[in-house]
Amino acid sequence: MKVAIIGGGISGLSSAFHVKRLAREKGQNVEVALFEEAATVGGKISTERRDGFVIERGPDSILKRKPEALELIKYLGLEADLVSNQTGQSYILKEDQLHPIPEGSVMGVPTRIRSLLDSELLSMDGKIRVLNEYFIPQLPDFEDMSVGEFFKARLGEEVVDHIISPLLSGIYAGDIYKLSLQIALPQFIAIEKQYGSLIKGLSQTASKKKTSQFATLTGGLQELVSTLEQALKKDGVAIYTGTCVEAVGKEEQGYSLELSTGETMTADHLIFCVPHRVTESLLPDADYLHREHAAPDTSVATIAMTFNQEDVQMEKEGTGFVVSRREPKAITASTWTHMKWAHAAPKGKAIIRCYVGKAGDDQIINQSDEALVQIALQDLKGVVAIKGQPDLTVVTRWPQAMPQYAVGHRQWLAAIRQRLALDYPNVYLAGASYDGVGIPDCIKQAKEAAEQIITTKETEISR
Ligand SMILES: Cc1cc2nc3c(=O)[nH]c(=O)nc-3n(C[C@H](O)[C@H](O)[C@H](O)COP(=O)(O)OP(=O)(O)OC[C@H]3O[C@@H](n4cnc5c(N)ncnc54)[C@H](O)[C@@H]3O)c2cc1C
Repeated sequence: MKVAIIGGGISGLSSAFHVKRLAREKGQNVEVALFEEAATVGGKISTERRDGFVIERGPDSILKRKPEALELIKYLGLEADLVSNQTGQSYILKEDQLHPIPEGSVMGVPTRIRSLLDSELLSMDGKIRVLNEYFIPQLPDFEDMSVGEFFKARLGEEVVDHIISPLLSGIYAGDIYKLSLQIALPQFIAIEKQYGSLIKGLSQTASKKKTSQFATLTGGLQELVSTLEQALKKDGVAIYTGTCVEAVGKEEQGYSLELSTGETMTADHLIFCVPHRVTESLLPDADYLHREHAAPDTSVATIAMTFNQEDVQMEKEGTGFVVSRREPKAITASTWTHMKWAHAAPKGKAIIRCYVGKAGDDQIINQSDEALVQIALQDLKGVVAIKGQPDLTVVTRWPQAMPQYAVGHRQWLAAIRQRLALDYPNVYLAGASYDGVGIPDCIKQAKEAAEQIITTKETEISR
């Protein structure tokens, strides 16, 4: 049996890993080929190591609560290199001031009345509106609605604009009034149903201790990619970098792939681990893959800057801030990386990473590196006092990188998977466009695709 994987980001690499692992466990011989358009694998995961700094161009952390990434790290024997983030205070920038995120809040939903009342992020009317949430009846049964509408209905608009939206924008770079609640924050639907009130439910269930939620590897997340790549090669996976899959054809038995190298390859099973727009273009007959009126994936850029620590004075102790929805700033967030990750900068040095690009304002990434650095420095003024210019800057653009999950995304996904299973048997979809953008979500989808393939094989044998 031959499995072809299109795309060599974390979804593609971990698909290959889990197919091989499961086949080995079941004593099956499976050939796996992975095709990656770029010269190197990793997709959005890319680490720059220079002058003792570990600078992430894309993701910098793995959410520990979702187990699939840590499980993969364990399989690869990388646990010794795992490090957790330092749990400093994070802030929200509003009216040029840094305000602590109210203690105990979960994704911006306050759970401790005292810290809500002490916060200057909301007006008194805004706070009263939040506390009214206890008395607001459960929303009528719904399958999905936008994150913005849900939280506005329960907690009021102020908390959405000043706390919830900036926190979520860091993950989705989108408009939370279009973002699907069911895919982004399904746990809140369950809490509302069970307790009738989010504040009531969360104050009973949320952990009281401030613990580190994220992990990374001391060599940066690139270490995960390079170790995976080595493991796959050792396992006989054929990795074709610099090879774009240009067309997919349905054969009497299986599929053919036309490659940018002019070759054609065949496979029995295909896993698409590319952005959905690429999947759509490779299966032009499957017009049902197209989702009308879906917001385009947004483009973002990261701007990392290094300094001597003595030249950088944070207005407040902490690990960084996100920017309120109503704040007239170009940056959407800033991480004080050396405060978040002890290994990321040599002693006496600092790294600040800023983010630009959001729904409706993503053309900003087309500005020059120099202009983006100056925009970041300008927006930091008032909250971080910086002497002089950065020593080193690393600007990375990620065009059309952040998928926008529209309301009803899960139903749409179930429907297209069902149609694909009929029209294109043994074709699977995995990756950030589908069931979650986080690294653990991508690995989970990859693992599920691998499980389906190896189970299918078993069924075929037993028939
Ligand atoms: C700036 C930024 C910060 C982020 N921060 C975090 C974070 O801290 N934590 C977290 O969990 N997540 C984070 N994310 C999200 C996460 O990084 C991504 O969702 C995830 O890495 C996507 O992996 P993927 O394999 O699905 O897609 P990708 O990484 O996009 O990989 C797809 C691959 O397919 C290749 N490809 C495309 N077309 C073809 C073709 N026709 N033929 C062959 N190859 C093709 C591409 O070159 C690419 O390498 C961040 C994302 C960005 C952009």
